[in-house]
Amino acid sequence: MSARSIRPLPPEVADAIAAGEVVERPASVVKELLENALDAGAGRLTIEIRGAGRNLIRVVDDGGGIPAGELRLAFMRHATSKVSGLGDLAAISSLGFRGEALASIAAVSDVECVSSGHRLHIRGGQVLDEGTAAPAPGTVIEVRDLFANTPARLKFLKTDPTETSACVRIVQQYALLHPRRRFRVLVDGRTVLNSPGGGEATAAAASVHGATAARELVAAAHAEDGLLVSGLVSQPHLSRGNRDGIVLAVNGRPISSRALSYALEECYRGALERGRFPLAILSIELDPAAVDVNVHPAKREVKFSDEGAVFTALQKAVRSALAGSRSPTLEIPAPRLPLESRGAAARQMVLHDAGTTSFPLEPAIAAVAQGVLRPVGQVLDGYLVAEGPDGLVLVDQHAAHERVLFNRFSARLEGAIANSQPLLLPPVIELDPAQVAAIAEHRDSLQALGFDYEAFGPRSVRLLAGPAETPAGRVEGAFMEVAGVLAAGRSDESLEAALASLACHSAVRFGDGLEPAEQRRLLQELEATVPDATCPHGRPTRLLLDWQTLKRHFRRNY
Ligand code: ADP
Ligand code: MG
Repeated sequence: MSARSIRPLPPEVADAIAAGEVVERPASVVKELLENALDAGAGRLTIEIRGAGRNLIRVVDDGGGIPAGELRLAFMRHATSKVSGLGDLAAISSLGFRGEALASIAAVSDVECVSSGHRLHIRGGQVLDEGTAAPAPGTVIEVRDLFANTPARLKFLKTDPTETSACVRIVQQYALLHPRRRFRVLVDGRTVLNSPGGGEATAAAASVHGATAARELVAAAHAEDGLLVSGLVSQPHLSRGNRDGIVLAVNGRPISSRALSYALEECYRGALERGRFPLAILSIELDPAAVDVNVHPAKREVKFSDEGAVFTALQKAVRSALAGSRSPTLEIPAPRLPLESRGAAARQMVLHDAGTTSFPLEPAIAAVAQGVLRPVGQVLDGYLVAEGPDGLVLVDQHAAHERVLFNRFSARLEGAIANSQPLLLPPVIELDPAQVAAIAEHRDSLQALGFDYEAFGPRSVRLLAGPAETPAGRVEGAFMEVAGVLAAGRSDESLEAALASLACHSAVRFGDGLEPAEQRRLLQELEATVPDATCPHGRPTRLLLDWQTLKRHFRRNY
C-alpha cells in the first residue's frame, strides 16, 4: 500500500466517490485514523482519547509512514495513495480510498502529524507550521479541539460517556477483527483496552469481552464459492440485551447490515429470548469485486453483488458452529410445558376459592369449577379446539394464556399475594443506568409480581426470584425485558406495558404441544377471565363458531 505515492484523484474518480460527511463525531475520527494505520500495515496501534475526544484523539502506529515529501498532500482533499483510476474503485482492497478523511478532520480541528522525520501542524484547514522531527517508525497523529470551529456540530454530540464509548467501541471492533495486531486504548490516561496481538481470535475477544465470555465463544467457519465466513459466535447461554456484541466485517472492514444481522439472529431463534442477542465476530472474505464499499460516506454499509449467497454462507457457518458446540447447558430444554408445573398457580386459585373476597379475580374463579369448555384437542400446535355451550370455540393458546397471566399479574399489583419462586442459580444481570433507575422506582411493584433481587454493583443486580408463573428458564429474560420497558416509557403507562411483557414472557408459546390436561387447565383459566376477549396486545384469544351457524351451514336447522 505504502509503495504507491499520494496523488490527487482525477476529477472523474473524485466524482464517482460516495459524497457525504465523514466526520460526524469523535468516533468517526478514531475510525478514519485507525483505518489509515491499518492500511499502512501497522502491527501496534495506540489510541488515546481525552475529554470524550473533543480535547484530544491521538493515534500512534508503527506502520509504513507517510513519505516526507507527501505530508501536505496527505491532508489535501481527494489525495490518496490507495486509488488512482476508476478501475481501482471497482475492487477496493484497502480500508480507505477516498483521500478525504485527513482533509475533513483537519478542517474541523487542530491536527499535528509526525511521520518520516517530518511534522505538519494544520488548524481549521490552514497550515500553521511544518518542519522536521526526530525520525521514528510509523506515524503519530494528534487531533485537538475537535469541532471547536463548528459549534453547531458540537451541539449535536451526545454525553461524554456516550461519545467516549463510541470511540472505544470502534477500536474494539478492529481489535476483534485483527487479532494479529496489538491495540491499546487509553481514556483520560486510563487503559481500557489492551489486546495482546499474536493472532489468537479468542485472546482478542477476551481483551474486549472478558475471559469468561470469551470461553463461551465457539469458532464458526464456512467456505463456499469464493466466499469465506469465519469468526467466533456465542453459545446461546451467553447473550446480551442489545446488538453491541455483534461485529460483522467484510474484507476486514466492520459494516452494519440489517440483513446479515438478521441472518445471524435467526440462527438463535428459539434458543434466545426475545430481546436477547448473541455475541459474534464474523468476518466475510470475498473477492473485492463482488462487494461495493463505495455506497456510504462513512463506509459503514456495503452492497454485495449476491447478498443471498453471503446470507446463506453466514448461516451455515453459525449453524454448524452451534450444532458442534452442544454443551450440556445447551441441551437442558427450557420447560416446554409450563402449565404442568403450575402447582403454585393452582394453590392461588384455591386461595381465591376459599372465599377471599377482595381479589379482582374472585368472581370469575367461580366459573372455573363449572369447566364449561370441553377440550377437543389442539390444532396447528397453537390453537385449542373446545366445545362450549354456545358453539365450537377455537382458542389461540398463547394469546389466551397471556390474557390470563396479565389479569393475574394486575391483581398482584392491587394486593393479591405475590407468588414467587427462588432461582437456584441467581443470575447477575447488567442494566443500563435508565433501567437501574426504573427498577428502583418500581421496586414495590416488581416485588408484588414476585421478583426479588439485590444490588450487585452500581450497574448490576443479582436476581433471586421471579413470579411462580414464569418458567424458571425465562425469568431472567422476563426481568430484563420488564426493566427495559419500565425504562423506556412514561412512569404511569410503562407499568401496564411491563405487565403485558411479563405475561408474554411467561405464557405458553404458540407452537408448544400441550397435553390434554394442560389444554383443560388453560381453557379453565381462560373461562375464569371471561370479560377480556383479547390478549393484552389486542390480539383475539378465541373464535366462536356458534351452533346455529354450524347447523345452518349443514342444513340441519332443527
Ligand atoms: P485515504 O485513506 O482514503 O487514502 P486519507 O485522507 O485518510 O485518505 O489519507 C490520505 C493518505 O495519507 C493515504 O492515502 C495514505 O497514503 C496517507 N496516510 C494517512 N495516514 C497514514 C498513516 N497512519 N500511515 C501511513 N500513511 C498514511
Ligand atoms: Mg483514510
